[in-house]
Amino acid sequence: MFTNEYVKRVYQQVERRDGNQPEFLQAVREVFESLEPVVAKHPEYEANGVLERLVEPERVVKFRVAWTDDQGRVQVNRGYRVQFNSAIGPYKGGLRFHPTVTESVVKFLGFEQILKNSLTGLPMGGGKGGSDFDPKGRSDAEVMRFCQAFMTELQRHIGQFTDVPAGDINVGGREIGYLFGQYKRLRDEYSGVLTGKDMTFGGSLARTEATGYGLCYYTQEALKALRQDSLQGKTVSISGSGNVAIFATEKAQQLGAKVVTASDSDGYVYDPDGIDLNLVKDIKLGHRGRIKEYADRVQGAEYHEGCKGVWTVPCDIALPCATQNEIDEESAGTLVANGCTVVCEGANMPSTPGAIAVYQEQGLLYGPAKAANAGGVAVSGLEMSQNSLRLQWTFDEVDQRLKDIMTDIFQKSYEASKEYGKPGDLMLGANVAGFTKVADAMVAQGVL
Ligand code: NDP
Repeated sequence: MFTNEYVKRVYQQVERRDGNQPEFLQAVREVFESLEPVVAKHPEYEANGVLERLVEPERVVKFRVAWTDDQGRVQVNRGYRVQFNSAIGPYKGGLRFHPTVTESVVKFLGFEQILKNSLTGLPMGGGKGGSDFDPKGRSDAEVMRFCQAFMTELQRHIGQFTDVPAGDINVGGREIGYLFGQYKRLRDEYSGVLTGKDMTFGGSLARTEATGYGLCYYTQEALKALRQDSLQGKTVSISGSGNVAIFATEKAQQLGAKVVTASDSDGYVYDPDGIDLNLVKDIKLGHRGRIKEYADRVQGAEYHEGCKGVWTVPCDIALPCATQNEIDEESAGTLVANGCTVVCEGANMPSTPGAIAVYQEQGLLYGPAKAANAGGVAVSGLEMSQNSLRLQWTFDEVDQRLKDIMTDIFQKSYEASKEYGKPGDLMLGANVAGFTKVADAMVAQGVL
């Protein structure tokens, strides 16, 4: 699988130590495949043990979260925070509350986050956290008590100069509010320790929109540079109906595309006339409903059980915005057979290695997650800057910075792909460009 001896040796060590962490292994393997020519060109990375250190988190915190439900029963969940790499800034990365959260999932997300944060050009290290808590069907009071219990332990490990968590799946404005309130109460300190905050207590305008909007800015830039084309007039399939999916749909529509799908973990809707986003917002943001309701309320829209079917809908561009490994080799083949030529990732690691192989064999324009969805953490970085400055920038100012950052991420990745002899291989480019900055910082700071 690997030809470079150094890369092979370190990967085998990860397999030996973390063989029971499939998602983490998948993420390391994908990055290492891109890094072979880089470590061959830069022997100082091997001399300084950069890869060995990169795959080992600086700290993993795993803790019990005990809380009481509305019936007075004691519930126990697991909490995690992986502080992966602080070479270029304080640890930064979201919190995910979902029953599928394990140490492997948090480590894959944290590992990806190191390179993603580096690509943004902002001073942020990589981290990630979460819990196997499932907020579905829980009352607001239960979610609040869970968040308070979670933060009671987490607060020992984070801080505005140490580690600044944000949201991710099932952690949105409501949860960030409860978490922030508990941090403030326990530490007696008002600081920008979390991002994704509400506008009434230090949030940034455009943070809610940032990942979805950023995904479209990146896609638009890639289309312009590599295809002399744009989103205008394209048919787009989007999975998910959460934060990233909603604002990807909004921006894609603003840029002239027709978005024809939305989904959740139960199934997907296909609307040949184009998704009515106000209705999706009403269902998902208004009353936390299921996407099935869309088809009940829109004539001509179809609902299908099972989320995988979303990739059978013919489209020009696919933007996966739900979760990891949601496009497998079979779905990738179906997308291509139905005319799709562009896949840009809003979710983290939504494509399996088999799917990525299909994109590469078929010459798709493929924008990998760590570049294409970096807009969220980029605006989180801008929220940190505004908190430090005690200032609030306008929506347009933040949006313009987001656009500039996404353009820059594309350019950096494209340049790196050219430098390493694979022009247009944006996965290689993103991995190389993200890695090089972190590796150089690690070498400069000595063996830590
Ligand atoms: P949300 O919780 O707002 O939405 C998640 C969406 O994905 C929901 O529609 C959810 O459906 C669906 N989903 C979740 N798990 C699964 C699953 N196992 N199978 C099928 N569908 C699923 O999360 P976000 O929109 O914030 O996050 C979506 C993706 O984007 C994640 O991969 C996240 O890591 C990534 N991301 C998010 C960023 C952000 O700023 N929020 C930044 C960068 C990346 P249901 O309601 O049924 O669970």
